[in-house]
Amino acid sequence: MNKFEQLGLNESLLLAIKDLGFENPSEVQEKAIPVLLEQETDLVALAQTGTGKTAAFGFPLIQKIDAEDRSTQALILSPTRELCLQITNEIKQYSKYVKGLHTVAVYGGASITEQAREVKRGAQIIVATPGRMQDMINRGLVNIKNINYCILDEADEMLNMGFYEDIVSILSDTPDEKRTWLFSATMPSEVARIAKKFMFEPAEITVGHKNSGSKTVSHEFYVVNARDRYEALKRLADANPDIFSVVFCRTKRDTQAVAEKLIEDGYNAAALHGDLSQAQRDGVMKSFRGRQIQMLVATDVAARGIDVDNVTHVVNYQLPDEIETYNHRSGRTGRAGKLGTSIVIVTKSELRKISSIERIIQQKFEEKTIPSGMEICEIQLLHLANKIHDTEIDHEIDNYLPAIEEVFQDLSKEELIKRMVSVEFNRFLNYYKKKRDISSEKSERSSSEPREIRAGDPVRYFVNIGARDDFDWMQLKDFLKETLDLGRDDVFKVDVKEGFSFFNTDGEHTDKVMSILNGFDLNGRRINVEISKNDGGSSSRRDHNGRNSGGGRRDGGFRGERKSSGGFGPRKEGGFRSDRNSSRREPGSFQRDERPARRSSEGSSDRPASRSFDAAKSRRPRRS
Ligand code: ADP
Ligand code: MG
Repeated sequence: MNKFEQLGLNESLLLAIKDLGFENPSEVQEKAIPVLLEQETDLVALAQTGTGKTAAFGFPLIQKIDAEDRSTQALILSPTRELCLQITNEIKQYSKYVKGLHTVAVYGGASITEQAREVKRGAQIIVATPGRMQDMINRGLVNIKNINYCILDEADEMLNMGFYEDIVSILSDTPDEKRTWLFSATMPSEVARIAKKFMFEPAEITVGHKNSGSKTVSHEFYVVNARDRYEALKRLADANPDIFSVVFCRTKRDTQAVAEKLIEDGYNAAALHGDLSQAQRDGVMKSFRGRQIQMLVATDVAARGIDVDNVTHVVNYQLPDEIETYNHRSGRTGRAGKLGTSIVIVTKSELRKISSIERIIQQKFEEKTIPSGMEICEIQLLHLANKIHDTEIDHEIDNYLPAIEEVFQDLSKEELIKRMVSVEFNRFLNYYKKKRDISSEKSERSSSEPREIRAGDPVRYFVNIGARDDFDWMQLKDFLKETLDLGRDDVFKVDVKEGFSFFNTDGEHTDKVMSILNGFDLNGRRINVEISKNDGGSSSRRDHNGRNSGGGRRDGGFRGERKSSGGFGPRKEGGFRSDRNSSRREPGSFQRDERPARRSSEGSSDRPASRSFDAAKSRRPRRS
């Protein structure tokens, strides 16, 4: 008898479980399923994400539903549309051998009448987000007055998202005799309140330790200068050729900007945030699941509950405002028993946050250094060699072999190998040869490094937008405040020139200024901001020569190298955009064979060529 059978599950479920390839029940399933099957009881189950909670309630629920009765018998509430669809999909798979059982998803952003119609046709199980469910109830489109089971999935997340009122109201519309099963990763007081109010002597199950980070996730951090954040991200991606990751940013704007930069630089990336339409979000998630996207850049809200297996890395491009959010982020990897890595890119000034997180997750971070260009070349080279070694041979190629052999006949095996791998390797080498090492330079640069930036000190910036872009000082100040989400007095000494401007903020905002403004797309014009050596002084007049004192350039490196393409100052509509992108934009232009030529003519391109041989296979996602 297999383990699932021992738990008391019936034949049609066992068949489906076999199709799904589940071999053994997870801990929460082992604990919850027998209880729910054997008793009519309320239940509170605490388990981390990725522990198999859906099946823990899904299997017993399906077994208990009367599929011959078409009325609605169970309601599953879940925090997001994504999760709602995911659960619906899972339940459908679990119940595929149960004739007559229908499950309908009810969520915002899609036609409510269509959903109502589906419910009306007969749905024993409704999976809903609280907001849309409340809507349906108000309009009399559903009847949950006779349900037997109500499941609150990810209860802590639902309450986090402010659904308390909706949940209370929905539950009051259900019969008192129903059973309530509550699943949650954590047990904050609001969840306890719901449990107390709506549940009767619930059975309790706890899996693993409350609030502890998943054992399958290791945590690393990398210290970089604020302006090197993006370069660090790219290197981490290059050093992990098979990366399949969720990259977290703090704001929608950063999310969009980072994703766009990655796409421009040739990575398989896309943005996921609340400003996208539902259709766009669905498209992005589909590509991510299909692995056409290797780096999904997301906001915390949009990424809630993303359940994609085999995510190798979670990257905290910026740390979340609420440290607790870190747990939710890192839970996107290390799922279903797989190992995962959660990476944090931090600046020195944020280091204390790392210790706070360590206390919360009760796990230590490992400090690492961003790989040097040569290390990356080595990793890529070995990756390529392995790829070649493991490539399956399609015997179509036999027809061409005589001709190919003729070409290679004067080369020894050693020579041939050298040349083959060099094809790919040279691109990385050429790119990284010119790059400084962002980690090791940290300590060496003290002489040319702009003075250390501290909170409390004013910092002056040079920015490549000005009167020509229709700004006067008030408009620029408003634009900056809004774009950077800063307060009324946080931007000061704004001095607008024809093609460029200066402004000040407190040092505590420097990180934000650099990360948000750099690369910001202002109606097709790419904003470039640099820290000026000049602090703006008592009079901003003398900034006329600030063009030179916009000294960020002098410290060389990243920016300096871009000079040929980099448009600041007088180059309107900077060559930056057009000459870097024109050849990169068109979809499907991801053939790596085209790249070397493009690369060499571009010179200053920001991407070290093809990500790997895989790149050719995966279509480049559309920009959304
Ligand atoms: P949670 O709701 O706890 O975050 P899920 O129910 O979404 O977790 O399950 C996470 C993943 O694990 C899903 O892909 C699911 O199909 C898979 N899974 C669930 N139970 C098992 C099992 N017993 N064996 C193997 N995989 C499982
Ligand atoms: Mg779940």
